[in-house]
Formats: sequence, structure tokens, C-alpha cells
Amino acid sequence: MAKWVYGFGDGKAEGRAGDRNLLGGKGANLAEMCSLGLPVPPGFTITTEACNWYYANGNTYPADLTEQVLAALEEIGKIAGKRFGDPANLLLVSVRSGARASMPGMMDTVLNLGLNDGTVEALARESGDERFAYDSYRRFIQMYSNVVLDLDHEMFEEILEDEKASRGVELDTELSAKDWQHVIGLYKAKVEEELGKPFPQDPQEQLWGAIGAVFSSWMNHRAITYRRLHDIPESWGTAVNVQAMVFGNMGDTSATGVAFTRNPSTGENKLYGEFLVNAQGEDVVAGIRTPQNITEAARLDAGSDKPSLEKVMPEAFKAFVEISDKLEKHYRDMQDLEFTIERGKLWMLQTRSGKRTAKAALRIAVEMAGEGLITQEEAVSRIDPASLDQLLHPTIDPKAERKVIGLGLPASPGAATGEIVFSSDDAEELKTQGRKVILVRVETSPEDIHGMHAAEGILTTRGGMTSHAAVVARGMGKPCVSGAGTLRVDYRAGHLLAMGRTFKKGDVVTIDGSTGQVLDGAVPMLQPELSGDFASIMEWADRIRRMKVRTNAETPADARMARSFGAEGIGLCRTEHMFFDDDRIVAMREMILSDTEKDRRAALAKLLPMQRSDFAELFEIMAGLPVTIRLLDPPLHEFLPKTEEEIAEVAKAMNVSADKLRQRTESLHEFNPMLGHRGCRLAVSYPEIAEMQARAIFEAAVEAGKKTGSPVVPEVMVPLVGVAKELDFVKARIDEVARNVIEESGTKIDYLVGTMIELPRAAIRAHVIAEAAEFFSFGTNDLTQTTFGISRDDASSFLEAYRQKGIIEQDPFVSLDIEGVGELVRIAAKKGRHTRPEIKLGICGEHGGDPASIRFCEEVGLDYVSCSPFRVPIARLAAAQAAVKKG
Ligand code: ADP
Ligand code: MG
Ligand code: MG
Repeated sequence: MAKWVYGFGDGKAEGRAGDRNLLGGKGANLAEMCSLGLPVPPGFTITTEACNWYYANGNTYPADLTEQVLAALEEIGKIAGKRFGDPANLLLVSVRSGARASMPGMMDTVLNLGLNDGTVEALARESGDERFAYDSYRRFIQMYSNVVLDLDHEMFEEILEDEKASRGVELDTELSAKDWQHVIGLYKAKVEEELGKPFPQDPQEQLWGAIGAVFSSWMNHRAITYRRLHDIPESWGTAVNVQAMVFGNMGDTSATGVAFTRNPSTGENKLYGEFLVNAQGEDVVAGIRTPQNITEAARLDAGSDKPSLEKVMPEAFKAFVEISDKLEKHYRDMQDLEFTIERGKLWMLQTRSGKRTAKAALRIAVEMAGEGLITQEEAVSRIDPASLDQLLHPTIDPKAERKVIGLGLPASPGAATGEIVFSSDDAEELKTQGRKVILVRVETSPEDIHGMHAAEGILTTRGGMTSHAAVVARGMGKPCVSGAGTLRVDYRAGHLLAMGRTFKKGDVVTIDGSTGQVLDGAVPMLQPELSGDFASIMEWADRIRRMKVRTNAETPADARMARSFGAEGIGLCRTEHMFFDDDRIVAMREMILSDTEKDRRAALAKLLPMQRSDFAELFEIMAGLPVTIRLLDPPLHEFLPKTEEEIAEVAKAMNVSADKLRQRTESLHEFNPMLGHRGCRLAVSYPEIAEMQARAIFEAAVEAGKKTGSPVVPEVMVPLVGVAKELDFVKARIDEVARNVIEESGTKIDYLVGTMIELPRAAIRAHVIAEAAEFFSFGTNDLTQTTFGISRDDASSFLEAYRQKGIIEQDPFVSLDIEGVGELVRIAAKKGRHTRPEIKLGICGEHGGDPASIRFCEEVGLDYVSCSPFRVPIARLAAAQAAVKKG
């Protein structure tokens, strides 16, 4: 008999923290907390395997599930001294989803399940608190109707708002038992009106309805979007947790809250959290009332006049501090905790590794290593390389003038400027037009995920540091200011009121997620630099990693930036970009459009000094480091004059007629330029181009070497080689130029000649190519195009559908296709080394900055990866993590 259900409670559990694949993150950690002897309400977890069974069998349950659930429910009742559905001794439960990876807000929880018209009276009697009982029942109807019966949450909110208005109160907590009874009557009538049948009264029916709803929520739109954005496979499934209720809404000695063992925004080693008295479940996160701080220190910092938990419930506070210390030490990581206090008694409802900003992640990792809780290797492995991206974003220049129009909480650091939009759909639409937007909402909900992704930053007028907007923005690495209470959003009028001024959609504001300020207009920003904890982690990473990290750069600005981010040379300098400048393009066009070698050489002679000075500048910046320069690669037609004006200009410079030029232009037309006359094919047709470039490179190396005293080692890279003889032919020209320059200058030049491996044929014939090639650089962009036979520029129209239909898991242009393209890389590396054991191997495609691809490069034993300047720190860290993983 398969085991679908795992129980926990009373200091024991059938599962452990390590069972997250089977029990989901929440279930596994509830089991673990129970085993640690912490106060956790008893419950059980239905496995992810049951969820997969459910989907594999037309949304039905395994036959033996019912029996196992009933038995487990009995067991909870025994521990709690109550029985499900028994008015004399009422057990209520929560039904909670929980996937392997935490998916915040993606699946909804139902609380107080088991209440009906009869049991609510029993609850009122038993607790001696009518108000509490009816509050719980109305919450249950509201949640159940929304999550299970699929009725719009707004319908119930409206009824509630009306009730508060008619009673002349502002807060939910001010409604009496009578008021709630009235609300419940209206809720039930609403359900019946909408569904044509009454709200379910049978606790068993309620339970199975909720279990089914959790399973089906795995396939709801929000969950699917979240999985897509976070690369979570559909096959993981979700678990369901059923747990005895404890109540934070039993009056003023009860409360509910959330906390982090360290500050998730700054990383500071101080307990940080929020709670609400007489509240339940998600009240804190939903921004219904403004939450209170947990510690007195945090209250003072925040300048809040609402008492801290430390003050109002000192006993429970003390117990909570002890437990949070214990959990952090046990998991050896910062924990995100959920708890409830029922009549002064503390109950733990969740723990998990807390999400944090990149800045906090660095500080926590460095400090935990300092505390001896983790090793430096672990510290390095704990940082998500992609998250460093947020630190590589600009911050507001401290010298800039700040016209502050509002102040909220510094919910997610970094600054962003953009046009105001009030809806996520608008955010997405403007983003596709290439505009930068700030999403402004009263509060956000999971329906806003797409808008938050599209926005540069998020601004809300309600909600705390643990509100949906704050949590999700931190996860995305987007600046966010939350709870900016002095601002007023009017969706209907489409404007934002701030300091007596009206901002409309399209008006530009800047938000500073590090201070909580909202500023008028665009504000000057500072470029990021590596210092403090970031620098420490980078230092540790550099000590751990084996692979070198270079950059793809052709401009001095990029090269300098990359150096400041720790690049150890250039892995790809694309020379064609150097020809697009206004003053060069005419000479370039002359060269292309010449019919004779003589004319071509004349045009090339004009380009030579320009190329030489470009290279010399790069070589000075990269003094002492290797620089790989790729010979001209793109099809010539990219440089052709297009407008009449451009044609006339070139015709004049070449002293030929415009007609003749047009003819020549047409003759260069290609049906499929990606596979046309480009790469080394150009050098074969017109060796003088390669010769000019080689001369510029070597002369620049001599010049820069004299100036800096530490010459670069130029690595001349021949693109798009498929046949070894192509390389032989071009290399002979390069070597000859080198000999000449060495002789002319009387200076020795260390240089290498190698090739890009970007065609499957080159990978397969790598052992022959390696006879001439002193290095291979895997050009995985083209190698992916030519291996799949997919043109990258045309892929977007169908690749997304491939992903959605599960035909491919990831865009192969973003993360290397390890099985296919990667196999060619393996083959080429092996064959290349066979011929030339010391051959230098690197990667220079977009993948050189992708952590998963970098891991693969480490496995194959490449010497370096090369990526765009902003990704250099990410690559340094990812290379270190790959080295740790390989061991
Ligand atoms: P999420 O995954 O969205 O965090 P949870 O399953 O953790 O959802 O439930 C949300 C909140 O509901 C919890 O933080 C807790 O406050 C409340 N809750 C869940 N189960 C119980 C329970 N058995 N007793 C009291 N409160 C509960
Ligand atoms: Mg939770
Ligand atoms: Mg290429």
C-alpha cells in the first residue's frame, strides 16, 4: 500500500526537513520543527506524489487516500484532544498548500475549516468568546468561497465594507459578534445566489473540497506564470498540509505575525518582524491594518508609536526569540517564520530559508562565515549569482537634489526612474514599447506579477515590509517603496496625489528603495562598485574558482567597467562594431564596394590607423592580460549604404556613379546572410581585410606595450571556421603580417592564432583544426543556431510555444543546451586537447554569463568564460560555485 499521508505533532513526525521533494517545503519543515520539540499544532501532509497521481488520473484521488486522511485526522484529534466535525469538542483545521520550492502567494490557504452553522455556536460556547467564533466563521466562508468555490473575493469585501460603514466603524476588529452574524447571513446568501446552492455545511465535504482546490491550484494561471518565471518544473506537484487550527483572533492576548531571524533587506543580525493583535492568517501581509514591530529596538528605529510584541506579550516574545535562534542555528541560515499566539501561548506555523535582497544575502553569508556557522565555501555557494545583478544597478547620487514628494518603507533597495502607471497591464504594454515605468498601486497582489516584472520599480501606498509588493520585489531584485501613506492613488481618475500635486499616468518619478523616498522627476544616479561584503565574497570566490573570467568588450568604456568588475582580459572583441562610427563607415563602404583588390587596399589603408588606435586603447586598459580579437565576422551587406543619401556620399568618396554603386550593392544581396558570405569566408575572398586587421592588432600591441610596460597577449581569432584549411589559409596571412611587424618594429610579440568553434563541423573536426589553432573559443550563440538550425532572430515567434508545450525546458540561447550543443563542446574540447594538449579553451557566447552554463564549462574543464561587463561579477561567483560543486 502506497503511503500518501505523513503525520506530525506532539514532538514527533514521520517526515524530515530532507523530505521536501515528497512533502513540499512547508510540510517538510513543519515535520522538522515538530521533531525539534517546538510548539507546532499537529497535522499531516498529503504528498506531492498524490498530486501527481491526481493529475495522471483525470483529477481523481488514489483509492487508499481517503482512509489514510481519515486516520491521520483521528490522530490529530487525539493529540489536540478534539474531533473533526464534533460540536462537543470541535477540531478545526487549516488546509495549506506547499510545493518543493516556496511559491509565495501562489496557492491559497483555507483557515477555520470545519465550521458550519452548528459548530460555530459550539465554538462560541467553548471559547466563551462569541465575537471570535463568528469572526472565524465569516473568514472561513470568505476564504473557502474564494479558493474552493471560485467566487470573487471582492463580493465579500464589499459586504464587509458596507457593514463597517453602516456601523460607523473603520476596523474589522471593531465589529461585534452580532455584526459578524449579520455579515455571515449576507455571505451565505451571496454564495447561494451565485452558485444556486447553499454554502457547504458538511465538514468532510469542506475538507475534500479544499484538498481538491489545493491540487487544482497547482495548475492555476498564477502558479503557471510563477513556475515559468522561476524555472520550476510542472512535474514537481504540490503537497497539501492539513493542520489543527490555533487562533490569533481570540482577543487581545492573541496575535499573529511573521518574522525573519535577520533583517531581510539589510542583512543586519537582528530579529526583524511584524505582528497584529487579535488577527488571523494573512492579515499582517495583506496590509489590512498597519502591523506592529516585534522588537522594541525595531519599533524605536521605525519611530512607531504602536507597542512592540516585546512590550505587550513579553512571555511569548521571549519564547519566540529562543525558537528563532534555535531554528537559525539548526538550519544554519536566516529563517522566515510564521507564528500565532493564542491566549498568550506561542505556536510555530512555518519556517523556511528567508528570501533576502542581494545586499542582505552578502552580509548574512559573510557574517555567518565570520560567526563560524558556515564555511567560506558555503558562504560563496549561498549567493544566487543572478541576484548580484541588483547590486550592479545604479543608486541615487548623494549630491543630487532630491525633490521628495512622498515617503514610504525602504522595502527593496536600489533606485529607479520611470513613468507612472497604475495597472500591471499598462506596465507591460509600455515596457514592450521600450519605455521605463514605475508601477504605482495601493497594494499589489499575485495578479500583478507580470506588471512588477515589466516595471523598473514598484511603489505602493499601503502595506509593510512583508507585504506582497515588498516580498516579491525583493525576490525580483527590483527597487520598491511600500506603504507610502502620504500618497493617494485614485485609480478611477488615474492619478497620484502627492504633496498637493497631481501626478498623471506618464509623469516621471524616481523611487529610492533604500530610503523609502519618492522623488519628483528623473534624478542623477551613481554607478555601482564592488566594496564591503560584496568585495569579500568576490575575494573568496576568486580564491576558490579555477576558471578565468574575461569580458566581451570592444569599447574602452566597457573594457574599463569590466576591469573594475574584475575581468581578467577580453574574451571577445568584435571588430565590426568599430566600423559603424560615422567617420569610418564611409571608408568601410568604399572597401566593401570596391571591385578590385587595389581599390580595396586603398580603402583599407584609411581604416588601418583607426583600427590600430582602437586596439591600442583597449590594450592599454588590459595591460598584461590576454585580449582575443575576432576578425571581421558579419556579412558585408550589413555595412552597405541604404538610403539614397548614403549612396551618394559613398559614390562621391569613391568617385563612381550612384548607379554603379547600386548595382554592386544588389550583387551583394544574400538570401540567407546568417549562412552566407561572412566570417573567415570574407578573409578567404579578401585576405587583405584580415591582413589589415592583423597589422592593426600587432602594431597596437607594440605601441601599447611600450607605453604600459606590460604588453597584452593578442589572441587573433578567426571566425566561422568549418574546414581546417580555412584556418590554415588565414593563419598563414596573419603569421606573415606578424613577422613583418616584428621585423619593422624590432619588438618581440607574443600572440596566438586560434578559432571560434561555432559550426558543428568544426566541433567534429576539432582534432584537425587544432593542428593550426592555438586556442578554441566556443561561440555558443552561432553554435546553438547552427546546431538547432534555428535562427535566433526568428526564434521568438515559436520558442515560447515550445516552452509552454514542454518540448524544450529553456531557451537554448539563454542557457546552454547541454545535451546537444554542450555535447559538441565536449567533443571539440576532447579532440582539440588530443591534438594539442595545452590548447586554450574558452567560451564567448551569451552563455558565458549564465550560471548554469558556467557550471557546464567547469565540468568540461574550459580555461575561461567570457561575458558582458555587467555579468563579470556574476560569472566570477558562478565559476567559484561550479568549482565547489565539482569538488
Ligand atoms: P502561505 O504559503 O501563503 O504562506 P500558509 O499555509 O503559510 O500560506 O498560511 C498562511 C497563514 O495562515 C499562516 O502564516 C498562518 O498565519 C495561518 N495559518 C495556517 N495554518 C494555520 C493554523 N493551523 N492555525 C493558525 N493559523 C494558520
Ligand atoms: Mg506561510
Ligand atoms: Mg559567430
